[in-house]
Amino acid sequence: MIGQIGDGFKIALKTLDKTRTPIAAGAVGAARAAMEYSVKYSKERKQFNQPIANFQGIQFMLADMATKVEAGRLLCYQAAWALDRGMHKQGSYYASLAKRFSADMAMEVATDAVQVYGGYGYTKEYPVEKIMRDVKLVQIYEGTSQIQRVVIARHLLED
Ligand SMILES: Cc1cc2nc3c(=O)[nH]c(=O)nc-3n(C[C@H](O)[C@H](O)[C@H](O)COP(=O)(O)OP(=O)(O)OC[C@H]3O[C@@H](n4cnc5c(N)ncnc54)[C@H](O)[C@@H]3O)c2cc1C
Repeated sequence: MIGQIGDGFKIALKTLDKTRTPIAAGAVGAARAAMEYSVKYSKERKQFNQPIANFQGIQFMLADMATKVEAGRLLCYQAAWALDRGMHKQGSYYASLAKRFSADMAMEVATDAVQVYGGYGYTKEYPVEKIMRDVKLVQIYEGTSQIQRVVIARHLLED
């Protein structure tokens, strides 16, 4: 028997503190890949006799992608730092912040990457549609984005 009778659910939940952060880090990596593909493609693809990277509308999407990726990365570092130091309560909270933000962020970045690719982005010939399908899962497993918000709010509201 592992632990005491009746403690199983609590023990199972504690494992999530350790697994949510690496899942969030995976989402950050996928978002970063989507951003890097978008930067490269925007310099290659020409419309109106110039690379689409020249258009401010595209540049702003790339800039937002970079900002979101870096923010997700820092939330992951913070959660990993706290958990590595045995700060279980704070680490659990940080892990939910990292998972909630990185999952939703990766979905936004991947969707924008498909937008940068235009019609090609929607096909399987280019990598960004797969990234978009893959990161959707991160909003669902290991605790959905809604459940992360439940955890975060509970932490904020407890006495
Ligand atoms: C590819 C894949 C791999 C998976 N791998 C694993 C695994 O290895 N181990 C494992 O244990 N599970 C795994 N899962 C299961 C995954 O953890 C569950 O799908 C997930 O927890 C959501 O549960 P559910 O599908 O029953 O959705 P439901 O609980 O039915 O939720 C449906 C919707 O309602 C929302 N919702 C539910 N409760 C609340 C609430 N209280 N407040 C607000 N919104 C709420 C959810 O956020 C969601 O949007 C995997 C799922 C997938 C798709």
